[in-house]
Amino acid sequence: LRRVLESNQLQLYFQPQISLESKRVIGVEALLRWHHPELGMVAPSDFIPIAEDSGLILSIGEWVLRAAVCQMKAWMSAGMAPLVIAVNLSAIQFRRADLPELISSVLDEFELPPEFLELELTEGVAMENPLAAIEMMNVLHERGIRMSIDDFGTGYSSLSYLKRFKVYKLKIDKSFVHDISHDPEDEAIVEAIIGLSRSLGLQTIAEGVETAEQL
Ligand code: MN
Repeated sequence: LRRVLESNQLQLYFQPQISLESKRVIGVEALLRWHHPELGMVAPSDFIPIAEDSGLILSIGEWVLRAAVCQMKAWMSAGMAPLVIAVNLSAIQFRRADLPELISSVLDEFELPPEFLELELTEGVAMENPLAAIEMMNVLHERGIRMSIDDFGTGYSSLSYLKRFKVYKLKIDKSFVHDISHDPEDEAIVEAIIGLSRSLGLQTIAEGVETAEQL
């Protein structure tokens, strides 16, 4: 893992985000993949915790941010309609006081306006230390960087904190989407999340939609 950056084994995959209204791709989420020459594909769930424990997540996270912003810029320069690129943040990155500075400098480097970047923070990380999260979100918000809450519904959200978070979107966890077409409870949960978001003035997106029924 320590040599992963210099040996070019990391790659980003881009998962499309589609608007139900326009049926168009309005964004992509950058997902990190590791192709190891002997081990093959190493699952993020296997290597991200190790990267976090060892502190390597900071340099890997910076690589992800730079690669995602660079790709977005290349797409826009090639004439693609503007999209929002979503990048996942680790708890370790989110706790760094210099995070806003790093993000601004990467955006400047590639001359990408901040509204084309969205940072995803999981509900679990945001709620771990909500007051610190509010403070960091405020700083990012002031710099025009958008944030969303990832895996929503799986953590222990305090609704009083949720309304203070400077986020614009809740991402409904894929575990609720997977069986939604034949599980009335999942359907009820998703409806409730959408209702909650609407009343807080937030957008929602469903993760992991793969079938017409789920859609
Ligand atoms: Mn995500």
